Amino acid sequence: MNNCLFCKIIDGIIPSNKVYEDEKILAFHDINPQAPTHILVIPKCHIPSVDGVNAENANVVAYLFTKIPEIAQSAGLTGGYRVISNCGSDACQSVPHLHFHILGGRQLSDTMA
Ligand code: AMP
Ligand code: ZN
Repeated sequence: MNNCLFCKIIDGIIPSNKVYEDEKILAFHDINPQAPTHILVIPKCHIPSVDGVNAENANVVAYLFTKIPEIAQSAGLTGGYRVISNCGSDACQSVPHLHFHILGGRQLSDTMA
């Protein structure tokens, strides 16, 4: 059985506050927001992290990135936003299903790490 938290959100086993969904991707509000707007965008296929992106699944990742500007615009992020993906333990990745954080709604720090 797939014990992945985000796969369970995709399957509706765990609830989420959705902002966008189609057949390939899902976007929902982060449960512990780090900025006034903090949205997670995930592919519906299980890819563990950026390290798991390859020639076979790169199309869904590219597709996901075409949707990020639309999702950001819908969220009202007219002043800009930051897109982050934590990969592995040094980056403090806590959920092993590829996800991109969209952060915005205030002036963000000019340091990233
Ligand atoms: P990362 O630490 O980069 O792996 O990001 C995982 C993110 O998932 C964190 O920002 C968490 O707050 C968020 N998160 C964990 N569980 C949930 C959940 N059930 N619904 C929404 N966001 C979640
Ligand atoms: Zn998963």
